This record gives sequence, structure tokens and C-alpha cells, in this order.
Amino acid sequence: MLHNDQLEQWDRENFFHPSTHLSDFARGDLPHRVVTGGEDCHISTRDGKQLLDAFAGLYCVNVGYGRPEIAEAIAEQARELAYYHAYVGHGTEASITLSKMILDRAPDHMSKVYFGLSGSDANETNIKLIWYYNNILGRPEKKKIISRWRGYHGSGLMTGSLTGLGLFHAKFDLPLAQVIHTEAPYYFRRTDLAQSEGAFVDHCVAELEALIDREGADTIAAFIGEPVLGTGGIVPPPPGYWAAIQAVLDKHDILLVADEVVTGFGRLGTMFGSDHYGMRPDLITIAKGLTSAYAPLSGSIVSDRMWKVLEQGTDENGPIGHGWTYSAHPIGAAAGVANLKLLDDLKLVENAGSVGAYLNSAMQDALGDHANVGEVRGTGMLCAVEFVADKADRRFFEASDKIGPQIAAKLLEQDDVIARAMPQGDILGFAPPFCLTTVEADRIVEATTRAVKAVLG
Ligand code: PMP
Repeated sequence: MLHNDQLEQWDRENFFHPSTHLSDFARGDLPHRVVTGGEDCHISTRDGKQLLDAFAGLYCVNVGYGRPEIAEAIAEQARELAYYHAYVGHGTEASITLSKMILDRAPDHMSKVYFGLSGSDANETNIKLIWYYNNILGRPEKKKIISRWRGYHGSGLMTGSLTGLGLFHAKFDLPLAQVIHTEAPYYFRRTDLAQSEGAFVDHCVAELEALIDREGADTIAAFIGEPVLGTGGIVPPPPGYWAAIQAVLDKHDILLVADEVVTGFGRLGTMFGSDHYGMRPDLITIAKGLTSAYAPLSGSIVSDRMWKVLEQGTDENGPIGHGWTYSAHPIGAAAGVANLKLLDDLKLVENAGSVGAYLNSAMQDALGDHANVGEVRGTGMLCAVEFVADKADRRFFEASDKIGPQIAAKLLEQDDVIARAMPQGDILGFAPPFCLTTVEADRIVEATTRAVKAVLG
């Protein structure tokens, strides 16, 4: 085994870490961390710590760490056939079975699954399919995509543009011109605009209508949104939001993409967030929970109405000119099949709903009244605590105070619990594996309370 100092030196000299402060890491101002193992809701590190991972990696290890059923399925697939492509009608038993399992679980009007590797590439696929669709329908002008501020849809050129967070645009010359942003359903931060959640939904709808009027409905192809805003702050929408948005989209013949990379396969206590909120998407993006991140795999689930047009397009133009070498990779597909079986066998979606509700209510009881806690919010196995400098005036801390990151660091240092300081605002996010127990939920809440008191009093 490598000596610790050697490993750290190699890490700091050679490894370009994603979403990391590059110079802080190179200088040694950011800790070097080596993760060595995991079991259920815990990971272990090379320095001998056992950490309770209350963010399931990046809200993706939904069935928990160390599941032998998935490891064995991967090993068996690798021994039998590690790779073959899926072009020109090829497949493996795993990829074909997984497509059937996904469609069995998806809303009834969905028709086919296109496999990719990451949430970002699945959303790139979605936008290409939307453009293809409108070209086949003879509507070459209908191409713009509406996304929400604070939405997160990936880090690519198009998907980074769809993402509505400044950090993902600045200095990258994004967003691209075809992307336009509208109001996010984030009532807590916009109470200045509306007296009630209902009035705020009306405001979001009016903003969307005004944007469509300004740009022209015949130039707008689609609207993309996460059922619950994730990376933008873990914000469930106010009641009635999705029904009202869906009505506007239907009126203007604008497609809906439900980005279910976080919510898909049970995080809200239902198989899909679209079911939970009564959305009728034309495309659903899936990734993380599809394999619980045991292997990289994503997908775009395509509706009947889009599929019919795509088929017609290939009758006219030949095979669809879109494919990744690793589309439907057999190892990812084998992991997906084993993962979805495990979700069913252990009733983990139900557990996400019930223990998630317990976590949210315990967090509310412990921190809801704290002078610097503006809001405790969540749904299913998603929970967030948002901090404010002044509760009555709803005044936020300066970003430079780094209150969120300080509390996350304290939580880790004091109690070995991992939560995520969300990238914009002082928001501590929790998205544990679905196998979380109520005892572990209590531990998360108690540890968070201690960390909040240590930083804010
Ligand atoms: N969409 C959503 C809703 C996400 O949360 C993420 C990742 N956090 C992505 C897309 C992008 O997925 P990936 O990082 O796998 O490209």
C-alpha cells in the first residue's frame, strides 16, 4: 500500500478534482481525503474514520453502500461480457431487461429508454431529441429551451447553460443563446413578491407567460425542470405549481422535460417525482438512482408522442445520428437491474418516504425555532435547513461569511456526519441513502443541532 504522504503528494500534484477550489487544493488549504470503503449509510476513510453519509455521495447511493447483490451482478457481467455496443439494434440481456424494468415503473405514456452515462449527457440527448422532433415536424424555429434560475441540469455546454446557477456560467461563456431562464418556485426567497404560496404560483405563471409572449411561443421548444429543485437549494415547489406550469406549456405546445436525476427511483417516496406532482413529461431524465451509482448509467425516457415523430424522422433520414460508445454499457445495465430489484425486495422506496418524513419532522422540531434558521424544508428523503442572519427581516448572511460551509465542516469534525453545503446560499442539504434508520436520522438531527449551535450560538 502506498505511504500516506506519497498519496497526498500525488493527489495534490496530479489530480484535477471536479467542483473544487483548484488553488486551495494545490496549496493544501483544502483537506485531501481518501475514501476506502462503505457499508449501508456509512463510508470509511483512509485515516480510519467511519462517517455517516447523510448525502448518499451526491444524492446517488440510494440503496446504500456495500451491497453484494449489485457487486456480484457487475462482476458476473464483466466476466461474461464486459462490453458490446448498442448500435444498429444490438443489446445484452441486461440492457434489454433494464429498459423493460424502467418502462414498467415509468408513467404510462412513456415509451422508450435511450441510455447514456451521466445526468449531463442524458440532458444533452434530450435537447437533441427535442430539436430533431421539431425539425421533423417542420418547425425549425421552435428551438429555445426554458429552464429555471437555480435549476441544475448538468455541467456540459448545453446542460451547463440550462443550469441556472451563476458559478456554472461565469468565465465559461455560458449560457448558450438557445437557453432562457425563468423564475424558480422558491417561495422562501421571494416572499417580497407575493403574500402567499398561491399568489407566488400565480407570479411564477405570469413570469412564464410573459417570457413566452416576449420570445414567441413558436420559438420555444421545451421547458425543463426538476420536480423538486435539488442543487439549487432542495426546494419543494408550492402546492399547485406543476399543474399551473403544465397548463401553460400545453396551451403553447411546449414540451416538458422532467429532470428526475435526483428524484427518479424513489427519493420522494414515489417511484418518480412526476407521479408525486402529477406532471405529464415528454421526456424524463434519469441517472443517479438508476444504478445507485454502482456504475455510471443514465437514461432519457421518451414519451409515445415524441417517439412516433422520431420514428417518422428516421424513415425520412436514415438512422438517428446520435450515439455514445458506452450507451447501454452492459456493466451499468447489470448494476441497474440488480439495483432496481433491491429497491423492490427491501421496500426501499417506502422506507425513503417514511424515514424521510421522520427526518424532516425531527429536523423541524430541533431547529425550526432557532433564531438563524429561516426554514427547514423537504419531502421524501430530501431535507434542507436554510440559515438567515435575521429571521424577522429575512436578511441573508453575506456569501463571504460562508455560514453553510462552516456548519457542514463543523458537523463533519464534531460528529462524523456528512451533509452538503449547497452551492448557492447558506443551505445545508441532506439526502441520505433510502436504508436510513430512524436511529440514524436522530443522529443526523442531533449532530446538526450541535454544529449549528457551535457556529451560530
Ligand atoms: N440533473 C440533475 C437534477 C442533477 O442533480 C444532476 C447532478 N447533480 C445532473 C442533472 C447532472 O448529472 P451528472 O453529474 O451525472 O452529469
